[in-house]
Amino acid sequence: MNSIIEDVQVRKILDSRGNPTIEVDVLTWNSSGRAAAPSGASTGSREVVSFPDGGVDTVVSEMEDFIASELIGMDAEDIATIDEVLKEIDGTDNLSAIGGNTTVAISMAVAKAAASSYNMPLYKYIGGNLINELPFPLGNMMNGGAHAGINAPDIQEFLVVPTGATNIGDAIFANASVHKKLKELIQVKDSNFTGGKGDEGGWIPNISNIDALEIQAQACEEVGDELGIEIKPSLDMAASELWDSNKQKYVYSQDGIERDTGDQIDFVKDIIETYNMFYVEDPFDESDFDGFAQLTAKVGNKCLICGDDLFVTNKEILAKGIEMKAANAIIIKPNQIGSLSETYATVKLAKENDIVPVVSHRSGETTDETIAHLAVGFGSPLIKTGAIGGERIAKLNELIRIEEELPNPKMGSF
Ligand code: PEP
Ligand code: MG
Repeated sequence: MNSIIEDVQVRKILDSRGNPTIEVDVLTWNSSGRAAAPSGASTGSREVVSFPDGGVDTVVSEMEDFIASELIGMDAEDIATIDEVLKEIDGTDNLSAIGGNTTVAISMAVAKAAASSYNMPLYKYIGGNLINELPFPLGNMMNGGAHAGINAPDIQEFLVVPTGATNIGDAIFANASVHKKLKELIQVKDSNFTGGKGDEGGWIPNISNIDALEIQAQACEEVGDELGIEIKPSLDMAASELWDSNKQKYVYSQDGIERDTGDQIDFVKDIIETYNMFYVEDPFDESDFDGFAQLTAKVGNKCLICGDDLFVTNKEILAKGIEMKAANAIIIKPNQIGSLSETYATVKLAKENDIVPVVSHRSGETTDETIAHLAVGFGSPLIKTGAIGGERIAKLNELIRIEEELPNPKMGSF
């Protein structure tokens, strides 16, 4: 059979933060698949462990041959069994023996090899021949928190979504225009602005959270009017990074303000209403399902409340969130859970329960474009990426190519 695995090759490559990560090639007799794993800075505590002690070097020097010998002869089409075998090889609950980045890179490379054995792109192999919807890009405009320097806003990500775009090219260039506009608006607020950017390509302004919210809204409106495309503001608050468990407060160092959970609910609700936020990710600490549920009950009818560190792409944790009505959207990052089949299971559960799956990059990325295919193949209406930067545009430009291939392309719906 064309898709029988003949070799698995593992190498150490560079990520966008200058750290080592893993790239995997899976070879069958007539095809190959290549995938690389990203890495997070504001990681959820229930994510699988990225690498074993010793990092990628240990995987390459001590584990590559054994893993390859276990997979050679298996059918790349049988992704679920291969993912199970990888878990058995690892033997731990959190993939700490061989690393979730090792397993996820192999899993995605296997899927790409299987797709390629049919001469098919990954999105079509996953989503089928009738799939024709492109995700709206949730683009990163300004960075704070763990993705930026000391004087940046506390909120980790100021994002925008061109909800009025009717094709992926217009959507991507609308985000790039907002990014440009924001540079001008930051310069007005911060005369010392150097043009510095954070891990995901958003600007790092030396301004307060509220000033950042103001210019984000202004940029959406001005660029939206210029282009005739509605563009809406969104946030990733990454609030686990703000939460001080000793004080039981969210600490906003840039603003010199501390908020307890009740204050945080009021603060986020007020931001959503004042700025007409389309999407707010991780507004509470990763353990606070109740805070999430209270906010979702108040504003979930007008805003997507998304769990990232809360759910860590884990089906069991999502099930708890569904039960508690904690959110109406979930971030999907395959390396949080360590395999494509488990990522798919989480997406399936989300869709069955009207939870919007948002396929996402990580702050440390490579030029791997796999998530563009996953977003289309899974029918995710949103993809979270940067707006600029080589490792971010790798995903965006792949979406432009995918749109060109689709017979009747249209933008996704919510
Ligand atoms: C995020 O928090 O959504 C994010 C992309 O950051 P990281 O990759 O650092 O978790
Ligand atoms: Mg996040």
